[in-house]
Amino acid sequence: MALTAYPREMDGISGSLLKTALSGMTLAELEEFIVNNNEPKFRARQLHYWLYRRPAVNFDDMSNLSKDFRAKLNETAVITNTKIRQKLLGKDGTIKYLLEYPDGNVVETVLMRYEKRPNLTACLSTQIGCKIGCVFCATGKNKFIRDLTAREIVDQIIIIQKDTGQTITNLVFMGQGEPLLNYDETVKAIKIINTELEIGMRRITVSTCGIVPNIYRLSGVNRQLNLALSLHAPEHELRKRLMPIENKYPLDEVIKALKEFVKKTKRRVTIEYILIDGINDGIEHAKKLNGLLKDLKYNINLIPYNPVEGCEFKKPSGERVSKFKEIVEMGTKKVTVRLERGTDISAGCGQLAGTLENVK
Ligand code: SAH
Ligand code: SF4
Repeated sequence: MALTAYPREMDGISGSLLKTALSGMTLAELEEFIVNNNEPKFRARQLHYWLYRRPAVNFDDMSNLSKDFRAKLNETAVITNTKIRQKLLGKDGTIKYLLEYPDGNVVETVLMRYEKRPNLTACLSTQIGCKIGCVFCATGKNKFIRDLTAREIVDQIIIIQKDTGQTITNLVFMGQGEPLLNYDETVKAIKIINTELEIGMRRITVSTCGIVPNIYRLSGVNRQLNLALSLHAPEHELRKRLMPIENKYPLDEVIKALKEFVKKTKRRVTIEYILIDGINDGIEHAKKLNGLLKDLKYNINLIPYNPVEGCEFKKPSGERVSKFKEIVEMGTKKVTVRLERGTDISAGCGQLAGTLENVK
């Protein structure tokens, strides 16, 4: 019997029937798929293994499946229907993928590799475009198109694992979009990633510009999940100029929500602070920052500004960065300056524009 009982998805471009995509399905969903197609239930476990534990490139690689079953799968199913439209390799080993979903929309995902560390970190996107419009960010300059579904988020990992043959160990939700404005699908994706791909919650970080009600909700998801806040200014007026979200959720409310997150999860939060030359990187800013964060348990990640087209800002000198760091260290010992990754292929923080321009 052909594997046709599971609902097929439509191809948004051609309108034709697509094969059933298996990536992102939970074990229970795979079992439903298998049972609906009159195959023995244990096959679901076998498929699950090849989807998540040992990323297979195609069904023929799934060596412990019978030949007949592989032939059936080839006829009616695919591992994923997300396509790689472009792949760029940076000098430091960073890989940037431009992925296309069946409705023709594209999104970027970045894989970061470090020479002396075994970690493989994927930077995932949660939306096509972003509604927030921070003045320093390439994503914010594109118009918002839509939220990604949980399966489309998970697919970004499946694609990277299939393409590189390597297993992702860490995840940061720091790609395109604001994860806490696509809360339900992001949390659903995190649960699938944790259960099916077995990536520990401690290795997953959600970064937000400060969507206060959803910071409270996120604190109840899992005590091990990491939260990072994009702060970027130590006071209301300056933050408002850089990040329009400050009008809706001002700093004092954001800090209150972070304190609650720390109280509930007993974990430190990460503060992300972009250093923009002459704008927010002065000694007075660093001192104010220490004051603002004084009752919070946090570590801080300083991010020298990455250039973005159409934006006049500049990265500060190394000397200014060191001076800022020195003062911030009086507030917390846990200060890091984020390593510049993949900027030669515009894969650095805030550089993900995600368009088909320049793609052949
Ligand atoms: N929307 C979420 C997650 C995606 S942005 C958020 O804002 O947190 C991931 C990180 O990149 C954020 O800290 C963001 O502020 C930072 N970023 C944006 N533009 C940048 C730029 N031009 N240079 C350096 N970091 C940037
Ligand atoms: Fe959106 Fe984050 Fe970029 Fe701001 S920094 S525009 S919230 S993706």
